[in-house]
Amino acid sequence: MWQAEISVDLDAIRGNTALLKRGTSAEVMAVVKADGYGHGAVESARAALEGGATWLGTATLGEAAVLRAAGLRAPILAWLWTAGTPLTAAVEGDIDLGVSTLGQLATVIAAAREAGRSLRTHLKIDTGLSRSGAGATDWPVLVEVAAKAQTDGFIEVTGVWSHFACADTPGHPSIDSQLAAFDDGLTVARRFGIEPQLRHMANSPALLTRPDSHFDLVRAGIATYGLSPIEGSQFGLRPAMTARARILTAKRVPEGQGVSYGHTYVTSAPSTLAVVPLGYGDGVPRSASSVGPVLINGRRFTIAGRVCMDQFVVDCGDADVHEGDLAILFGPGDHGEPTADDWARAAGTINYEIVTRFGSSRVSRIYV
Ligand SMILES: *Cc1c(COP(=O)(O)O)cnc(C)c1O
Repeated sequence: MWQAEISVDLDAIRGNTALLKRGTSAEVMAVVKADGYGHGAVESARAALEGGATWLGTATLGEAAVLRAAGLRAPILAWLWTAGTPLTAAVEGDIDLGVSTLGQLATVIAAAREAGRSLRTHLKIDTGLSRSGAGATDWPVLVEVAAKAQTDGFIEVTGVWSHFACADTPGHPSIDSQLAAFDDGLTVARRFGIEPQLRHMANSPALLTRPDSHFDLVRAGIATYGLSPIEGSQFGLRPAMTARARILTAKRVPEGQGVSYGHTYVTSAPSTLAVVPLGYGDGVPRSASSVGPVLINGRRFTIAGRVCMDQFVVDCGDADVHEGDLAILFGPGDHGEPTADDWARAAGTINYEIVTRFGSSRVSRIYV
């Protein structure tokens, strides 16, 4: 490694998926949206399938197409698409489509008519997240139209599904009320003759804490990558991503020296300043200014002053730090380096955002 890299431990992804699979009798869908939460969608998908996942999940149709183009044959569900979007590639790629609205359903039916075959759909019910999914009043209408389309041979209702709002807060009352609403939704579907093969609701936190939410399929995102969705419990998961860089320059400065834009940090003693060639253009949150943790030569330091677009500065005090030394921003923690959780706490965000940001950067990604 010359300058900076993100390394992704595919064994960790395989192992995490196997661990999740051991904890449920449901099938496991590895969610690889946003380029596999920054870990690389195709490589992560392959590793998760090797670990026992049988489904892949993406937000957009474009993300699903990338998986197919890479030769992945597992069933894929894509759920974030707007009514009217051309479905040609999705039809060719045999992508299962999440459907929340009558507009989406009409789009699927039109595409099925054109393709001359039925298309696999997963009807989504909003059980309380108040994001996508048909609400309680729209659900019976969606189900009725879908049942008719199924009878007419335009669609096959493969799944009925929903998504939790607060599964990362075990014991939150909305979890039980969403499960009850899901049950009601299934009853309504059954009344119209819809008996889906796959009922699915659980994300990573529900998978890890609520076996009664597993149904036939669980959608595991963050846990696949070894990060816990629940503060304070690791569940035996192993973080897959490490972010590191080589010190660009290290130099002595006197006491009272302002550091980086705005001089928001001033040295309190003569110090060695180390410049790390990663910035917000690479995924380092600017909100990590003066708080983000870094491990250099076995010691933890904190970012000094503002994170810039391409670099940040670390005050190493009197530590022996030189040009070319390794700075580890985060990793699994084996060598005392900070974790994505530490970064999330420091930057006021969640581990999901930390890894996703770093992965979608200009930094090269390597797989180990
Ligand atoms: C992102 C996403 C998931 C995965 O959530 P995690 O908390 O990362 O496991 C599951 N389902 C839907 C609909 C999602 O958007």
